[in-house]
Amino acid sequence: ATPMSVMVGIGRGAQQGILIRDASSLETLEAVDTVVFDKTGTLTAGQPALTSILPSTGRSEEELLRIAAAAEQQSEHPLARSLVQAASARNMKLPAVENFQSITGGGVSALVEGHEVLIGKAALLQEHGILLPVEQQPALDSLRQQGATVVHVAIDGTFAGSLAVTDPIKDSTPQAITDLHALGLKLAMLTGDNVVTAQSVASKLGIDEVRAGVTPADKQAYLKQQHAEGHRVAMAGDGINDAPALAAADVGIALGTGADIAMESAGVTLMSGDLRGVAQAIRLSRATMQNIR
Ligand code: ADP
Ligand code: MG
Repeated sequence: ATPMSVMVGIGRGAQQGILIRDASSLETLEAVDTVVFDKTGTLTAGQPALTSILPSTGRSEEELLRIAAAAEQQSEHPLARSLVQAASARNMKLPAVENFQSITGGGVSALVEGHEVLIGKAALLQEHGILLPVEQQPALDSLRQQGATVVHVAIDGTFAGSLAVTDPIKDSTPQAITDLHALGLKLAMLTGDNVVTAQSVASKLGIDEVRAGVTPADKQAYLKQQHAEGHRVAMAGDGINDAPALAAADVGIALGTGADIAMESAGVTLMSGDLRGVAQAIRLSRATMQNIR
């Protein structure tokens, strides 16, 4: 039978918007020594805004954005939504597209006005044999150092320019990190984003360890490895792509602002998406377990 104080602890969590699925999730939280975070939508607001348009020579900013936004119309990725929003804020009328394809963790491709458009991370374009000009790299890296995510656009197999979007850190995140460090925990960040962007966000927040450019499967493997090394790990994430990692963690922590499948894969859900709830949940668990002994 579940001890009375565990029931009380779960009830107290619920009052604070921390939904704990079962007694074992509350018990396991006590032993957690490492907290791993997804970046986009977890540490950051998940609502990026377009901050720079860098067309290749001979193209205008308007044309690059119009074509990129058109190709992204059917994508549900936050990056795609930021490009479509930026185009609509500039009163652009976007042409319909054909052959839309989403490449998870990489980008999208589509046929726009008869032209083959590919948008995504550098590695995706390189896999398609598209050369990225070296002259642009210092400018792009300085945007990344400020925390921006850069996506590249190719039209008919030729590089056409880059777009930078910035996803601000949530107001509540710095305090959440301070609280967890005060509890003596190691903090890590996992992201599909570029390493320079990832390092910028991590160093602003004082996160101890970063893995960038990772796939959902890599995130899951990282958690299994940490567990095998004897760590007890909580993973906080919001996205469909975080679900396997949430399930592989000792305790998965989903955000109520995120995807349903993330919540279904997690032992704890923070209703408001406020990460200060992670430290609150761990403190609640420690207090509850002390009560039992
Ligand atoms: P995260 O782990 O930050 O949620 P993803 O795994 O979803 O990132 O994506 C990794 C990278 O792939 C992004 O930083 C971006 O460069 C690229 N990417 C993914 N989806 C899109 C898209 N719809 N449009 C452009 N680029 C994309
Ligand atoms: Mg996310």
